[in-house]
Amino acid sequence: MAEGRDYLRIATEEAFCPPEMLGVYAKLIDTKQVDDPGFLGMWGFYISSPTARTTFIRDHLVDVDEKRIAHMDAAGIDKAVLSLTAPGVQIMPKDTAVGFATFANDWLADAIARHPDRYVGLAAAAPQDPAAAAKEIERAVTRLGMRGVIISSHTLGEYLDDQKFWPIFEAAEALDVPIYIHPNTPNRHMYPTLAEKGLDGAIYGFSVETGMHILRIIVAGVFDRFPRLQIVIGHVGESLPFTLYRIDYMHRASTLSGRYEAMKPLKRAPSDYMKENLHYTNSGVAWAPPIRFIQDVIGVDRMMYAMDYPYQYLPAEVETLDAMDMPAADKKAFFQTNAEKLFKM
Ligand code: MN
Repeated sequence: MAEGRDYLRIATEEAFCPPEMLGVYAKLIDTKQVDDPGFLGMWGFYISSPTARTTFIRDHLVDVDEKRIAHMDAAGIDKAVLSLTAPGVQIMPKDTAVGFATFANDWLADAIARHPDRYVGLAAAAPQDPAAAAKEIERAVTRLGMRGVIISSHTLGEYLDDQKFWPIFEAAEALDVPIYIHPNTPNRHMYPTLAEKGLDGAIYGFSVETGMHILRIIVAGVFDRFPRLQIVIGHVGESLPFTLYRIDYMHRASTLSGRYEAMKPLKRAPSDYMKENLHYTNSGVAWAPPIRFIQDVIGVDRMMYAMDYPYQYLPAEVETLDAMDMPAADKKAFFQTNAEKLFKM
């Protein structure tokens, strides 16, 4: 902690990948083994584009030593919660995905061991094999010291509200660790209409797809079945908090009218789960109004800081957030103590 701050800055949605993962992606793209237009659109570009932005991202995703630590120091980031970048193993064939999740978790554990005062990590898992995913989560948490789970939204178009995936929720709840649901590229049905105007990525499509995933989980009754489960979402809650009133109103109207077989009454209102089972980060949004809004309507104890390195590395954004007009205790909760509690740091 420097320059008279009374809080640490802990960044909670910081991406990495072992260099081998870029090799796996290149092969999936070259051999056309993947039939997912979002992945091919995004990683087909990022894997080989020579632009300054894509080169920076490739070079810094795979570095968890000198370059990353120097960037953290330059921006005043004291600690980072590292997670395998999207879509992680979720785009790989099942057997490859199961093996690579283990490899990536071991690789991350080694990085954390080299910099134990700077990093903690989230465990990757392969939803393609839910039983194996639950086992790997348990191994990564109990043996490698991971503090949660990273899931890159949909897995080849399938969503975690499907009960076949619920061993993942069961494992996280039993181990008392949160699941961070990070955006993936929009699924094959959503992708074309977004991509034709360049809206499939972080500008809009990521939040729409991931926000839908969170709502699917809520309306499926996941939190009635797993009441202690905690899920983290970035990008100021993928915009969900701002329509909390309407989500509640229309959920009630739809369940009362019985219009949808898949939308059954829940024990509580959607906003209750949003306030007691979800945590939020500002990743990529260095802007006080939505951060304060979430603190106000959800709770000061559920809004955390994230930078979204290396996709968005702007040290000036840290200064912008330092300067937010906010009670000192709330700012400390935002930058430091909420992350310390949730990730047991
Ligand atoms: Mn991110």
